[in-house]
Amino acid sequence: MSNDIEYKAWRVHEKDGEYVGAEETCRVADLPANEVLIRVTHSSLNYKDALSASGNKGVTRNFPHTPGIDAAGEVVESSGTPGKGSQVIVTGYDLGMNTPGGFGEYIRVPAQWCVEMPAGWDARKAMIYGTAGLTAGLCVNKLLRMGAAPEQGPVVVTGASGAVGTVAVEILAGLGFEVTAVSGKEDQVDALKGLGATAVVGRETLEASPKPMLKPVFANAVDTVGGAPLAELLKQVLPGGSVSCCGLVAGPKVETTVMPFILRGVNLLGVDSVEIPLDQKRQVWHKLSSDWACPKTEAAARDIGRGDLDGALRAFLKGESIGKIVLDHA
Ligand code: NDP
Repeated sequence: MSNDIEYKAWRVHEKDGEYVGAEETCRVADLPANEVLIRVTHSSLNYKDALSASGNKGVTRNFPHTPGIDAAGEVVESSGTPGKGSQVIVTGYDLGMNTPGGFGEYIRVPAQWCVEMPAGWDARKAMIYGTAGLTAGLCVNKLLRMGAAPEQGPVVVTGASGAVGTVAVEILAGLGFEVTAVSGKEDQVDALKGLGATAVVGRETLEASPKPMLKPVFANAVDTVGGAPLAELLKQVLPGGSVSCCGLVAGPKVETTVMPFILRGVNLLGVDSVEIPLDQKRQVWHKLSSDWACPKTEAAARDIGRGDLDGALRAFLKGESIGKIVLDHA
């Protein structure tokens, strides 16, 4: 019966090596045969969606394709748990990569990809955070598990004005950390201070230097950019400090020496929000909906429609995207 449903999706087609996205009508019958059919009311924009929509084959192999690594909405058909009528969040795994994602009004996914909506939240609230918020939470979680504490000194957040960075800044500031935000956007200094950053410094703070070590100034770090800035950051971390590493907007390659690790005992902590067990995601969603709530990020989130996706995704690829963007299918 549900297979008769037609719905709107923003799908990307490959034409002569170019990737073009547009709204089109799709059929539920063409979704993959999984246990849970969800009517998606909201999705969230992520850098990975921009990679998928621009034809990055490491993210999406085959086109046409509906991106959207995040989705939230109501279960309309289910052969298990969560049952029909449940409000759920789906992030990561293969959603929006090679499984049609949240930029469509319907998805059909395995039951073990679905997290029940935290108490007091609705789909839009969940998608303000989305994968980016979840990742920021996972980064903070790893630092705390390594013993990071405010009295150790400042924690630095790179890519601070981005989707992961803004949430990381607000969570850490809320936990009492002195937060130094690294941002390339001068016009975001006030906004970052508004989220709780004590200091905002330019990207030149992490400019490449030939020295194997630099004066240590940061007790801990959340790094969302990777590449050369991460290598420089490692040289500036205080003894015993930790760096949660989740992103690669400045490049996937990190050329470092072992010096920060063997002379200062610095810990480089990898953060994956995609393939981790559902229970780890559930725990961080719970934190985000309670102790780690980010009211300023929530208030600043922008809603867009499917017709705005093209421009918004291009801004991600240029490093110009700011804060959290919610896709509202209404
Ligand atoms: P955004 O584009 O929203 O933010 C990235 C920010 O990094 C930009 O806003 C900009 O901030 C800064 N930046 C952009 N380009 C450069 C550059 N060349 N050099 C230095 N800084 C730069 O992306 P997200 O926050 O959504 O994601 C950040 C990274 O985390 C991405 O690589 C993404 O793929 C990754 N990620 C990984 C996840 C995981 O599971 N490991 C999950 C989610 C995201 P500013 O101008 O303030 O410097």
